[in-house]
Amino acid sequence: MFIGGRYIEAGVERISVVNPATGEEVDTVPAAGAEEVDAAVGSAYEAFAGWRDLPASRRGEILLECARAVLERVDELAPVLTAEQGKPLREARLEIRRCFHTLEHYAGLAKNLRGGYVPDLDRDTYGLIIKRPLGVVGAIVPWNFPTTLLANKLGPALVTGNVVVAKPAETTPLVTLRLAGIMHEAGLPAGVFNVVTGTGPEAGQALAGHPRVRKVAFTGSTPVGKKLMALAAGDLKRTTLELGGSDPMIVCEDADLDRAASAASVGRFFNCGQACLAIKRLYVFESVADEFLEKLLGKVRKLRVGPGTEEGAILGPLHTPEGRELLERQVEDAVDSGAEVLHGAKRPGGEKYERGNFYEPTLLLEPSHGSRVAREEVFGPALPIWRVRDMDEALELANGSIYGLGSSIWTRDLDRASDAAEKIEAGYTWINSPQVVYDELPFGGWKQSGYGKEHGMEALDYYTESKSVVVRRGG
Ligand code: NAD
Repeated sequence: MFIGGRYIEAGVERISVVNPATGEEVDTVPAAGAEEVDAAVGSAYEAFAGWRDLPASRRGEILLECARAVLERVDELAPVLTAEQGKPLREARLEIRRCFHTLEHYAGLAKNLRGGYVPDLDRDTYGLIIKRPLGVVGAIVPWNFPTTLLANKLGPALVTGNVVVAKPAETTPLVTLRLAGIMHEAGLPAGVFNVVTGTGPEAGQALAGHPRVRKVAFTGSTPVGKKLMALAAGDLKRTTLELGGSDPMIVCEDADLDRAASAASVGRFFNCGQACLAIKRLYVFESVADEFLEKLLGKVRKLRVGPGTEEGAILGPLHTPEGRELLERQVEDAVDSGAEVLHGAKRPGGEKYERGNFYEPTLLLEPSHGSRVAREEVFGPALPIWRVRDMDEALELANGSIYGLGSSIWTRDLDRASDAAEKIEAGYTWINSPQVVYDELPFGGWKQSGYGKEHGMEALDYYTESKSVVVRRGG
């Protein structure tokens, strides 16, 4: 673990970190319990006043140094990420670079932290609206993008003067541990960013329930998000919950079908389909469905499945055997409900795939609207596709989900697109664009996709309390 600026071992049970492409153990880490979590929170708490009281510009300079150090170490961090997570090295490098960008973005906001001034409240009286950091933030993150999802929390938390205890997923602790050491070497004071490794029910719960933790910043599944919200309610901790999604993509008859097919392929199969923001339901207007499907199939046939370390592999393994089994059950259910398999729906054959959690990219045409792939989040490389008559039908189906994270609309008619963007129930809508997240824009789910925003200036508000101060002159 990384506590108080040092790597420490703990005399507790160990967790085995396994390579999803080979089934081999990469390393082991301690399974922290309440005691270790308490030590990490204590270390963060001790560091809080010193960090908070630095000039904001100094915090920004340090964070920028951290960001640069991460960028310099891309080639060291990416293979660690690939070994424990499974993603192709090319995607691992991209992820570390995104982590850098987010840290750099928030470092740059250090000189733009603002409050408010309200004149003439009364005779000789004015008001100030000031913003203060919360204190110790518990950051709990999943395994699909271990570094960027952490950077989304570290950036706004640290620049506003908070301190962080992170709990990575038990299956991807290694890159997070490296990150903490690198940021400390780059100048982040001891205790400002700590990492405890361990399981959700043990370490995660101990962190979220710790009385000194003032905010729980969580990314993960909707069921765990609900548990954490209930736990945090105990002492009214602040929370941001970035949860599951089932993003609809709507392809209209006047869309640029080539570009839409590319976006659907990348948007569904990036990170082996294990992204919160991923195209998980596709609705295509029936008049162009055949042409669009032909183009999409052309892209999907080219997706090479292989270990993340293999040159040219686009689709790595699924992260865990359980994840693949769940996907298989969802695909079976879709087929049972009447879906036609356009591609995949099976494990790839061959020796190289035997020990990893590989699965072929899968296209399913017209499962029933009550099937699991329509109702549940599909966290793997399978895309259900439905033909629709028009935008009204597409919107009704798109909104018929408990989730509301991302969405995308493809049409050359911008009036129609902006009307649909207003009606679609999701925290993000891309019009004729692949689903790319920008640091500049707030990101967060509607409905059961979560609560609160990351990215943008908006994220800063989720790491500060605002206070009104009244000043009377002449006293
Ligand atoms: P998960 O909820 O099982 O685990 C996420 C983290 O929570 C892990 O660190 C885990 O150890 C911890 N955890 C689990 N149970 C806990 C408990 N009882 N108390 C405290 N902590 C606990 O999620 P996952 O399966 O690892 O990740 C995939 C999910 O994350 C998907 O649903 C995906 O859509 C979602 N996700 C959302 C976003 C977003 O920004 N909205 C981004 C990425 C992933």
